[in-house]
Amino acid sequence: MRAVAYARYSSANQREESISAQLRVIYDYANKHGINIAKVYVDEAQSATSDNRDDFQRMIAELDETSPDLVLVHKLDRFARDRFDAAFYRREIKKHRARLIAVEQDFGEGPEAGLMESILEGFAEYFSKNLSREVKKGHTENAMQGKHCGGIPPLGYSLDKDGKYIVNKEEAPAIKVIFERKLEGYSYKQIADELNKLGYKTKSGRPFGPNSLHDILRNEKYNGTFVFRKTSPNSSRQAEDPTKTMRIENAIPKIIDKDTFDKVQEIMDKSRCQPRPNEGKQIRYLLTGLIRCGLCGQAMAGDTNTRKYKNSSATYGYYKCGLAKRTKECTNSTRYPKNTIELEVLGRIEKRAASIKNPESMADKLITKLKKDFEKNDRQKELRKLLTKTEKELHNLTNAIASGADPRLLASKLNEAGKRRDQLKEEVKKAGVPIDLLDKQRLVDFLREQKEIKFDRNDEVQCLAAIRKTIKQVLVYPDRTEVEFKELSL
Ligand SMILES: [Zn+2]
Repeated sequence: MRAVAYARYSSANQREESISAQLRVIYDYANKHGINIAKVYVDEAQSATSDNRDDFQRMIAELDETSPDLVLVHKLDRFARDRFDAAFYRREIKKHRARLIAVEQDFGEGPEAGLMESILEGFAEYFSKNLSREVKKGHTENAMQGKHCGGIPPLGYSLDKDGKYIVNKEEAPAIKVIFERKLEGYSYKQIADELNKLGYKTKSGRPFGPNSLHDILRNEKYNGTFVFRKTSPNSSRQAEDPTKTMRIENAIPKIIDKDTFDKVQEIMDKSRCQPRPNEGKQIRYLLTGLIRCGLCGQAMAGDTNTRKYKNSSATYGYYKCGLAKRTKECTNSTRYPKNTIELEVLGRIEKRAASIKNPESMADKLITKLKKDFEKNDRQKELRKLLTKTEKELHNLTNAIASGADPRLLASKLNEAGKRRDQLKEEVKKAGVPIDLLDKQRLVDFLREQKEIKFDRNDEVQCLAAIRKTIKQVLVYPDRTEVEFKELSL
């Protein structure tokens, strides 16, 4: 694995570790985990008031070139000036398919800090969405109109000449058979047999097998809902992020009515969670799809181990990094006991819910804090100043032309200033967070929803629901587990 390292020291804080001490800890960590540090960036503030971050900016700017898997810092507070900064740069790093690791985690952050994090991540998410909105507009518009975004349409549908979904009259009856039989309790094998007997074929013209049915039964298109992935996963080794999908109901013609579709989903959810009696004790991994290796970012997979005794056997479940399982590229090769990790995650969910005593007053407190953080964000101020200056310059140049100056002499200046203005505008947008976007009621609703999450730890279905509702991802490092909650959506 390849990494870049970043260390920062400002003499304002007498107690912080020196650059060399920070780098020592980073290198220790890298050596221990077989990580190769390709480049080191260091910012050292000369005085208490200056906060020189040239190397930080360079590090971000060079991500394309260095293309690391990881960005290693000593502690998170070394990485960013404040939480705003952190949320934005973390996204920037993610965009480059790298991940940020603070080798020495700042512990002692209460659940309130975690909530703050989710709210800020919400902002960052909102911004990055809006910044690249233009690019995605085309795709989104297609989705809105129920147009196909590439690939082969699923069984039961064809495309008209504008690329819109239409029901394929020959194939659609097969879809109906599949859903109806599932409702009647047929097994996949029985359904496939019936389809083949009736002469239906899959989209690729082959007979049906039991394995092809699950995805069909789960496909919301049959119920008219268009599911559109706003961003493609950062890399093929990462699972799809459920928070980044957009769903538009009634966007395409239905083949299955809502009632039937919902009932089938219910049946499938249930059968997922219950061990099938004839298959012995099946272990249900509650974090599947959400749990990732902290070191390499790859999804962790359930790993079941059955130990046989004289007269009985016991089955144990573990999570293990998918990359470490196959190759030596990732050194996170430990098998982590499923129960330990799941209980920790469930504990964190409970703790977070319990930490919200009064959503109203907590929202007030968070907004005040957010505003304070925002005012501290002087990068934004700086950029605005520059922008005003550039706009004035432009104004003067055009005035000069208006009052008779030779435009040919001023053209290059004019072009240059115009370019600079556009660039600055972009940067201001990136750096700034309009606080008014966060209306209090929305925050109160978010907190209330989080507060009301309750579940019985012994009920797998309830636990699963609580996890799906609150957790964005769980990162497992050799020495710790990090739980990321879903962000507030704006
Ligand atoms: Zn790994």
